Amino acid sequence: MSTEGNPSSKGAPVLTAEPPGQGWPAEHLSPATWRASPLATLVLYAGLAFAVAAAIVALEWALGDPLVPGSPPGTDRSVEDAVWHLASAFAIALPARRRVFLWLFPLLALGLDVDHLFGAVLPTVTGRTDHALLFLVVVGAVTWSVQGRTAALTVGAAFLEHVAIDGGSFPWLGPFVTDRWPIPAWVTLALLVLTAAAVTVAARGPSAIARPTVWAAILTVAIIVFAAFLIIPTYASFLSS
Ligand SMILES: [Zn+2]
Repeated sequence: MSTEGNPSSKGAPVLTAEPPGQGWPAEHLSPATWRASPLATLVLYAGLAFAVAAAIVALEWALGDPLVPGSPPGTDRSVEDAVWHLASAFAIALPARRRVFLWLFPLLALGLDVDHLFGAVLPTVTGRTDHALLFLVVVGAVTWSVQGRTAALTVGAAFLEHVAIDGGSFPWLGPFVTDRWPIPAWVTLALLVLTAAAVTVAARGPSAIARPTVWAAILTVAIIVFAAFLIIPTYASFLSS
């Protein structure tokens, strides 16, 4: 948030609008919709991913489950997975046609894997604690209250885009229920369409998705990413544990 160059501003902070195409979408610069810089959104998301995972690991440990020491991840797999998350989220953000979403959305999508720190570097109990609906609720509510509904819509879409293409099974109802369920392929496709539409709404406002050309772009990128998800088995199976 910047009030630079406006020495007369004393009341509510005012975001400094950038020229169209060079920063935040003008219609979402109002404090009512997005009250922070994109970097602040990214830091908040990653911080919450770490904090929620740490809190759940601590709770499980306090309740008597044994902590297991971390083991370093395989570099090849980690890099491969990171590239997959960044590339797929970049594609999903293309219909939004706003430059800031082309880097923010992939980094937010990748940010969910902050919970890899537990089990890879730090001790854990069950691991993968953020790959759960509880984290979606927490990150959505906190982001909405701190940074507004557009930021909340964006981080929620980033979470769903990530889990849609993760493959494998995760404890979606954790930490209350530790059973793991896979996401069916049709849900993955539906989530890709939904998240591409959500990012477009976040970037351009609800009226943008009324246009058939925008829907054509949304469906095209969703189908391309879904085809990659089906075709490349390496990406679809190795991170569920
Ligand atoms: Zn993941």
